[in-house]
Amino acid sequence: MSSGVYPRKSALERFKSYVRVEGRHWIWTGSLSSGYGAFWFEGKWVSAHVYSYATFVGAIPQGHQIRHKCDIRACVAPKCLTTGTAKDNAGDREERSRHPHLATMSKLSDKQVAELRRKYGARRKFDRPSLKEIGLEYGISAPSVCWLLKGHTYQKGVMPT
Ligand SMILES: [Zn+2]
Repeated sequence: MSSGVYPRKSALERFKSYVRVEGRHWIWTGSLSSGYGAFWFEGKWVSAHVYSYATFVGAIPQGHQIRHKCDIRACVAPKCLTTGTAKDNAGDREERSRHPHLATMSKLSDKQVAELRRKYGARRKFDRPSLKEIGLEYGISAPSVCWLLKGHTYQKGVMPT
């Protein structure tokens, strides 16, 4: 028998522990971002409903976003989810931003974003820590750092993964 090493809970087990089944809906009881479930997965925040779709239904076609068939943002039931292209949502920016594709959730305040830009925005690549290091400092992914340094905002909701 191997020594007392307990296996870490798998992502799926963690996911399930946050779900409360209510009829056909799976209500997310973990963290929420704009009403949508947020799930910490492989070092970043992803949309819980997107994780659910990818896990229980299948791969998300490129360029597609996960949308709710029911109107419950916190619902992560695979049956309540469907994919659509950004074009399906064309003309509805708000709707699009509410359905980020594996979006990194908003974790920094405007003040922190401003600070990050002030500290690293003007520096040349060789003269500052790597994106990864900056990301570690702020608890966000390297692509998110890149995204913010380029002047994008969290508010748009669509973040790189
Ligand atoms: Zn639902």
